[in-house]
Amino acid sequence: MGCILGDAGGAEHRRQGHTPHNPKCRFCMQGRMQHRAKRRRPQKTVEGPAAGLKLSSDLMGPFPAELRAYIYSIMVVDDEFQWAEVGGLKSKGSEHAAAVFRELVRVIAYSTDRIGVKVARVHTDMGGEFKGAFEKLCAELGARHTGTGGYRSTSNPLGEQWNRLAQEGLRAVLAACTGGVGYFEELWLVGLRYVVYWLNRNSTPARESPYKRVWKKEYVMHRDDHEFGSLCMYRVKDRDRADKGVPRSEPGIYG
Ligand SMILES: [Zn+2]
Repeated sequence: MGCILGDAGGAEHRRQGHTPHNPKCRFCMQGRMQHRAKRRRPQKTVEGPAAGLKLSSDLMGPFPAELRAYIYSIMVVDDEFQWAEVGGLKSKGSEHAAAVFRELVRVIAYSTDRIGVKVARVHTDMGGEFKGAFEKLCAELGARHTGTGGYRSTSNPLGEQWNRLAQEGLRAVLAACTGGVGYFEELWLVGLRYVVYWLNRNSTPARESPYKRVWKKEYVMHRDDHEFGSLCMYRVKDRDRADKGVPRSEPGIYG
């Protein structure tokens, strides 16, 4: 399936989830939001204790139900390296948000070489998903939970900035895998994860990648870093094959 049109960005650009944004690439332009939010100066949010992970989190959605029926995404961004991870939610319930948040924090700690480091501060807006069980989780982690003082207030710059970047990238990769004629809406969460993976790893002239900040060297592309939506073959487990006549691999699309 891959891109057959709009090659301005080149193969590497396509394999990097259309990051960074390239105005010469038609899919990037298709992905850019119609109304750009006013550019805000990056600002420090709320200071927490000196040591520990300082995180911002924000929801997006609802989206059309995707492959596994997720309808919201939850983004978690770390202040120090700006490393982000995204997950899916089937509802705005705080228990679900807390469980997914906990897992994303684990991945961020691992990815930024800070396994075992405590969470010092969590910054969110005041949506219901960040109350109840989510508040309890913050207390359990020993983290200070700071809010923006109003539902959908705009003072969560880090979380919102990442959501905006990821959504632009998502539109580009979804447009690119159909040659711009439509979207595979069921793939939005897979696409978001893919784009965030690359936003973490791609430096631009304006911005050093989170990966570089953590590891002090640029990410080197792996031969298994494929373009989103490319045709690939995946192996079928023996126990999932009805009999020996069933092929050992099936075609699928990469994401
Ligand atoms: Zn592009």
